[in-house]
Amino acid sequence: MPVTAYRRVLLKLSGEVFGGGRVGVDPDVVNGIAREIAGVVRSGVQVAVVVGGGNFFRGAELQQRGMDRSRADYMGMLGTVMNCLALQDFLEKQGVETRVQSAIAMGQVAEPYIPRRAMRHLDKGRVVIFGAGAGMPYFSTDTVAAQRALEIGAQVILMGKQGVDGVYDADPASNPDAVKFDQLTYDEFLTRGLKVADATSVSLCRDNDIDMIVFNLSVEGNIARVVSGEKIGTTVSR
Ligand code: UDP
Repeated sequence: MPVTAYRRVLLKLSGEVFGGGRVGVDPDVVNGIAREIAGVVRSGVQVAVVVGGGNFFRGAELQQRGMDRSRADYMGMLGTVMNCLALQDFLEKQGVETRVQSAIAMGQVAEPYIPRRAMRHLDKGRVVIFGAGAGMPYFSTDTVAAQRALEIGAQVILMGKQGVDGVYDADPASNPDAVKFDQLTYDEFLTRGLKVADATSVSLCRDNDIDMIVFNLSVEGNIARVVSGEKIGTTVSR
């Protein structure tokens, strides 16, 4: 059994990853991620997942195009549940037991969010996939990742990003001179106004002293690497 640094982790998968850069779900991409998560679970690590929904809708973007913000945010949250079901399907095909817990009641497809039950599932080796964000408009799934990690006693938040290998001092897509941080404090992150995670999630992590590691999901094997404690991406800590 490979050595792992953590016993229980919270993995945040941005919605972008599910779509492979497009709107909707790319089954091949989700299958690949499921295979990696299954490997980590088999090594004895408990994995909870918070799934984003940016591959379907982002409330703020729909608001700019004339929609009521709260209604648009609910659409965003519903999008995350579709990603949850896709991930659940491919994980179960890998032979991993899963439960989806939704912050918005939808009994046919998901359990309600019950933290103590989630922890029990994790103890039994099931992957718990949290959908529908916080069930509240004006929040992001990054913030939910921090909140769920704290509530279920995860040791670290692993922020998987599509094609970005960590936190930079400027957007690396538009600025070739952008410099990547290996390590960063929460205060530095907030003072610099960095955008890779939203400020609410970062301040929640800071106030409750839990580390966040931002890493690239697009490189195969990175989930196992980050779980084993290999120094990839950017670690944001106190
Ligand atoms: N959302 C929300 N409340 C939450 C989580 C998400 O209103 O607690 C909505 C919000 O509109 C957001 C969308 O769902 O833009 C998708 O989530 P997010 O943008 O965090 O997904 P990601 O960027 O990780 O793909």
